Amino acid sequence: MSARFWPLARGHVVTSRFGPRDDGYHYGVDFGRPGGSGGLAAHAVQAGTVDKAGQASGFGQWVCVSHADGAGYTVYGHVIPEVRAGQVVEAGQRIARINPDSATNGGVAPHLHLEWHRGRVWAPPGADRVDPLPMLADAAYPGEGTDAPMTAAEVKQIQDFIKGFCGPIGSDAKDIREQLCGQGSRDGGQFTGWRQLGGKSVVDALADIRNKVLNR
Ligand SMILES: [Zn+2]
Repeated sequence: MSARFWPLARGHVVTSRFGPRDDGYHYGVDFGRPGGSGGLAAHAVQAGTVDKAGQASGFGQWVCVSHADGAGYTVYGHVIPEVRAGQVVEAGQRIARINPDSATNGGVAPHLHLEWHRGRVWAPPGADRVDPLPMLADAAYPGEGTDAPMTAAEVKQIQDFIKGFCGPIGSDAKDIREQLCGQGSRDGGQFTGWRQLGGKSVVDALADIRNKVLNR
């Protein structure tokens, strides 16, 4: 499994970044979803142990997760916890939902506030709180496939599946993606094959294929 996950499912947006803003320094990142965020599941960005789950000043309730050495401590604010202090959680595991009620969520429009602290314990506002977005640069989406390296057998099966309509392809997954994403692969007779990907992005289509391979 991926080591890191986004805290919300695919389709989320960042509504406020880490850094200075009108009401003071924002020591976290706010996430939401167009059309409303109340009730959305919030997921642990990494594996760890729940340190706190319950009432917290300014948040209504929060969940805090302590990660292994060097991986920090994450805070999920404005939520309704679904885990208990002391519980071990996996990366990407659902741990809370966004509290839809501004009477009990700290008085905000429903959203998730995520903080990332350097150490293994809660850190007060200051230099020990880092911008979560760079930490999530390679994160997977919760509930979706893994980004673990493919085995040679998996690559072979994907190649066999694709080359019938895309022509000869390279020897590894990176080549497949590059060749399918390249302009040349969409030209001429290969365009018919391109459409067989079902209108999905290449990355999504490959993930679907890979899941089929793994689930055989
Ligand atoms: Zn915030």
